[in-house]
Amino acid sequence: MRIHEYQGRQLLADAGMPVPAGAMVQSVDDAASEAKRLFDEGAKIVVVKAQVHAGGRGKAGFVKVVNNTAEAREAAKYMLSHRMVSPQTPPEGLDVKRLLVAAGVDIAKEYYLAITLDRAARTATMIASAEGGVEIEAVAARDPSAILKERIHPLLGLQPYQARKLAFALGFKGRQVNQAVEVMMKLAKVFKETDASLAEINPLVVTPATAELPDGQVIAIDAKFSFDDNAMFRQKQIAGMFDPSEENAAELQANKFGLSYVALDGNIGCLVNGAGLAMSTMDIIKLHGGEPANFLDVGGGATEEAVTEAFRIILSDKRVEGVLVNIFGGIMQCDTIARSIVAAAKSVGFSVPLVVRLEGTNVNEARKILTEASGEIRSMQTATDLTDAARKVCATVA
Ligand code: GDP
Ligand code: MN
Repeated sequence: MRIHEYQGRQLLADAGMPVPAGAMVQSVDDAASEAKRLFDEGAKIVVVKAQVHAGGRGKAGFVKVVNNTAEAREAAKYMLSHRMVSPQTPPEGLDVKRLLVAAGVDIAKEYYLAITLDRAARTATMIASAEGGVEIEAVAARDPSAILKERIHPLLGLQPYQARKLAFALGFKGRQVNQAVEVMMKLAKVFKETDASLAEINPLVVTPATAELPDGQVIAIDAKFSFDDNAMFRQKQIAGMFDPSEENAAELQANKFGLSYVALDGNIGCLVNGAGLAMSTMDIIKLHGGEPANFLDVGGGATEEAVTEAFRIILSDKRVEGVLVNIFGGIMQCDTIARSIVAAAKSVGFSVPLVVRLEGTNVNEARKILTEASGEIRSMQTATDLTDAARKVCATVA
């Protein structure tokens, strides 16, 4: 589960990190009045930022530093009336419904700081770079040595010496060192306490030196979090931050019925049981020149109702030009699938070709059901094995 930056900033602030003042708004007028409030309170600059579940906002023009309320209004108007397109969004971009209006910060230098899981090392790892900012992906590709890593012990947590080591390696000077160490220790604490899978501050900045702050100040001005869905039952505060409007509607609907559904770009809808079989079904479709439109695992014990819903979800995708059903009946019984196909034909209707390959528990009964229904489901073909099924479905959409 992901959250917005304004919610992530709240988590950082709650953990005691310095975070600039600001508020989330949903209209141009509210953006202008929040900006006015910040300027009245003494902010020299204000930043208007689109709140969407994708990065690359800066380069896409959806993070704007403004000098007065009129500019804030302009920026908000633009962001709320244009879709944001970045390398991290779908090609058609994302609708922007929320903005963060926050006090802007003068920046002397930008750093990168994050914690995520290193699956190979089987532990959380702190990742840091002195070359933070909007080019971090390019830095990582061009010069991996500019990315520092420190493994976090699962029981002991991040140790202060590790944070100091990173802070010195990043080049923090004077009072910046302790401030950076505090940020790292607090980030590690938040990461652990919220069951996060990613906690990222990019950029973590140092402000320019002033008379009162000769070493500047270390401040987080962006916050990106993802959490382990399986931990949400014990993370009520985090679960409460869920924004369904940022999620794929079909994936949400599938979740309600206990289906694992991931929308993809191709035109062959797949209905499969078991993640492994789903993966190999996608592979064999590709092998025969097709492109899967989705990954859909109905699981082991799905009911006729859930499977019918699965068909509804697949068929509501306008890109789908053919459907492949590939079931190996173990716990799942083939006749349940066959009945769902008949039910889906009645309630949804198969407007596109359907190829069905069933094997395993109750397969004979399933075949009987399908043979009896074949007069009504004209677009249905059966297949004898996986290769036959893939060939047939690829031929129908070719
Ligand atoms: P992202 O591109 O989606 O990661 O959005 P960020 O919040 O990281 O903002 C992108 C870039 O905008 C940052 O790397 C900064 O260079 C700039 N930026 C963001 N906030 C401020 C601010 O308060 N002051 C200044 N001067 N620049 C900012
Ligand atoms: Mn950022």
